[in-house]
Amino acid sequence: GKKDKRGGISYYSDELTELAKKHIELATRLRRAIEHSEFELYYQPQVHIKSKRIVGAEALIRWNDPIHGLISPNDFIPLAEETGLIGAIGEWVIRDACRQGKLWIDKGYNLSISVNVSANQLRHQNITRLIDSTLKETGFTADKLVIELTESAVMQREEEAVAMLHAIRAKGIRLAIDDFGTGYSSYSYLKRFPIDILKIDKSFIDEVPFENDDMAIVKAIIAMGSALGYKILAEGTEHIEQIDFLEEHGCQYYQGYYKSKPLKTSEFEKLLL
Ligand code: C2E
Ligand code: CA
Ligand code: CA
Ligand code: CA
Repeated sequence: GKKDKRGGISYYSDELTELAKKHIELATRLRRAIEHSEFELYYQPQVHIKSKRIVGAEALIRWNDPIHGLISPNDFIPLAEETGLIGAIGEWVIRDACRQGKLWIDKGYNLSISVNVSANQLRHQNITRLIDSTLKETGFTADKLVIELTESAVMQREEEAVAMLHAIRAKGIRLAIDDFGTGYSSYSYLKRFPIDILKIDKSFIDEVPFENDDMAIVKAIIAMGSALGYKILAEGTEHIEQIDFLEEHGCQYYQGYYKSKPLKTSEFEKLLL
């Protein structure tokens, strides 16, 4: 009884210590990764459904850890947010994406570049100034840049966020709401937030066109978003049946493995040829 319980507790706290140790270790490696430029942006095509043309690319970060190899953002972005390291990482992401975007424009590819900006970054970084200086520095143009934000990112400190979004958009930069439909507040803020693109979350797309509830939700998001003047992009599209359904119901764009997974820049360019 008691003995087991105590054993359980001490086992649990050992586990916590283990976890804390891992976190500290990861944070240290992450700090070093920033200094040693161990990050790389991969690009996933965004496709205009009707013309089948690649019209954009989402920049998705990868970490080339010298010991552990390629690490996915899901395994370090949350910790980067907690520790504030996201500021330095996010700055690098915007710079590198704009630099690459400019290279592609110069090669004659007419692409927009989408960059993920996290809640923490939006709160603590002077993002409008960062974007301004980056566009100047790289020569990339505002009308080719898309900033992706999640619903929860803009829900925090709403007044400030709205002002910031207006300032960003006034420069001609477009705003996309990422993972749309997974937040808890999808309607009231749509009226107040200056948005250009809704990205329907992959979870709603997965079972289309087989699951009636998901199909109803996707149709409703497309209809509502279009009526409000937004462009609609479906995320995580893997099958032609999904694309047919999306096209039939008025969704203009998709992004997903059906076209391609995120690629290194050299591989991405092969897709454009
Ligand atoms: P996200 O912004 O929602 O990006 C889409 C994720 O879905 C990407 O995962 C992409 O590889 C994956 N995906 C796209 N199409 C498909 C598909 O057809 N099937 C499946 N199974 N997956 C698909 P990734 O690259 O691992 O990124 C995960 C998340 O990490 C991103 O989700 C985003 O929230 C975050 N992230 C990535 N790069 C950055 C960054 O530079 N800054 C910040 N703040 N967050 C980032
Ligand atoms: Ca995104
Ligand atoms: Ca997403
Ligand atoms: Ca996501």
